[in-house]
Amino acid sequence: MSERLPVAGRAQVRHDVKELLRSERGRVARLVGLTLLASAAGLVGPYLLGRIIDMVENGTATLAAVDLMAVGVVVAACAQLVLTRYARRSTYRFGEHVLRRLREDFVARVLSLPTQVVERSGTGDLITRVSVDVTAVGQTLRGALPDIALYVFQLLVLFAAIFWISPLLGLCVVITIPVVLPVVRWYLRRSREAYLAEGSALSGALENVTATAEGGRTVEGMGLQADRIGVTDHDVGLLYRARRGTLRLRSALFPVTESAFALPTAIALLVGGLVYLNGGIALGALVTCLLYIEQAVNPMIRLTQWMEEVQRATASFARLRGVQRLPEEVSGSDLEPEGDGIELVDVHYAYVPGHDVLRGIDLSIRPGERLAVVGPSGAGKTTIGRLLSGADVPDSGRVSVGGVPVGELPAEVLRERIVLVDQEHHVFTGTLRENLAIAAPEADDERLLAALESVEADWARSLPEGLDTAVGSGGTALDPARAQQVALARVVLLDPHTVVLDEATSLLDPRTARAAERSLAAVLEGRTVIAIAHRLHTAHDADRVAVVEAGRITELGTHDELVAAGGAYAALWSSWHGTD
Ligand code: ADP
Repeated sequence: MSERLPVAGRAQVRHDVKELLRSERGRVARLVGLTLLASAAGLVGPYLLGRIIDMVENGTATLAAVDLMAVGVVVAACAQLVLTRYARRSTYRFGEHVLRRLREDFVARVLSLPTQVVERSGTGDLITRVSVDVTAVGQTLRGALPDIALYVFQLLVLFAAIFWISPLLGLCVVITIPVVLPVVRWYLRRSREAYLAEGSALSGALENVTATAEGGRTVEGMGLQADRIGVTDHDVGLLYRARRGTLRLRSALFPVTESAFALPTAIALLVGGLVYLNGGIALGALVTCLLYIEQAVNPMIRLTQWMEEVQRATASFARLRGVQRLPEEVSGSDLEPEGDGIELVDVHYAYVPGHDVLRGIDLSIRPGERLAVVGPSGAGKTTIGRLLSGADVPDSGRVSVGGVPVGELPAEVLRERIVLVDQEHHVFTGTLRENLAIAAPEADDERLLAALESVEADWARSLPEGLDTAVGSGGTALDPARAQQVALARVVLLDPHTVVLDEATSLLDPRTARAAERSLAAVLEGRTVIAIAHRLHTAHDADRVAVVEAGRITELGTHDELVAAGGAYAALWSSWHGTD
């Protein structure tokens, strides 16, 4: 079971929202200014209608005056339309900027996390956050925010105007609040948890479906279909219950709010009528006021509807920002490694607490040495490689290069010293140049081509667009041998002192593997090499051989010494050699 990434607490969410608003100060000011102007323009129409009614009632109305006011109504409506358009536009722009910041922060932080944190959190959680959660926040920023900004300011302006004309009628509107507030509070108290539960259930379901799809062959091969369907059913059940939970909250909120908002108009009509009959208000002012109240109802209903979306987005926002609180990869040890000697001292490591995979590894590797690590499958050889390359840190003991623990070296410094070459030769979508430049961003074409040549990748010269040829998904497909040559060219460009090879050529067919090994030999020239070996001839050619069994080094010496000692290695050698 993977550990879920953390979720930001309320205080952090508040802090981050404030930070975002502060950093976008200019855009926020523009948005607020335009929205206030648009809302104020909305007041003009009803006000002029009230004036017309008053003039007609007083008998002072002239055709010209009424016409002028009617023109005023039209002009105000047009002004409101135009202002609203620009207000919305500035809100959209603000929303897109915020969304871009959130995405960039998230990706930057995930990339700077220690590898083991990302690996242990599971792909489902990461993918859900960067897709579903970003979409949820994005939808709210695009859809809800422009409306919310407009409605909030409209309400403020309308309430101010209603209270200014008639405080009594203002009270008629405010009377809705005690009806709606308890329901809204009941809803808000429960909804954060409910939406977080929904997000987490979705992450879990996605995680397991991804695992089933990725391990499709294993599932078929071992007849695990029923088991995986069971797991999926269970996840869908959890998701169904979580969705029911949020639906229940919504179905309690909306009927109450919708009916409550019919109240202000009804009460204001009744009270306003009585006040008018008693001479307490002019007919024109009453009509203006009623039109304002009518205008206020729609924003109130829409705001409560958006609240749901805002809650959902806040939960997603909390999930996105939670990652910001994870510890960053250590990058700042002032220790400068002295030399390139590698030491492992009493190294213990467990993937699952309590199940040590490495149980006290002591090993010292001299610069320039070629060490082969052999042993049965599952003994911990790959794990040693991971610790050497800094992909993981030991639970106890230390792995150091030039006297500095590998985990304390900034990634870019470590890459210059130790590079792990394993079976995964990923070709990134992009040009061949971009694929190589990952290793040496400042290298010119000459150097890139020389690196390709040194690993015998002569085909690169005959590509139609040379280094600009698009490779990877959607581009020119590179076969496994070429992909590996690109990976090896990267190593040449990085020019590390030490290369850790983990069965780098074992997935290739024998003929390709032989060619690849020639490329590899060119890369390894003059470097310290730690080869996790599965073919014993690698061990035969090495300066020393370490035999790893059940997390410990049980034999260490030259090939000849170990064969002479007649231990596990000698047995392996004779059985392998005998069948060669
Ligand atoms: P080797 O390379 O010698 O075959 P590994 O270092 O790959 O051995 O694995 C050592 C042990 O650690 C094995 O028992 C393996 O099942 C376990 N192991 C490897 N990777 C993981 C992982 N990501 N999570 C849990 N256990 C793992």
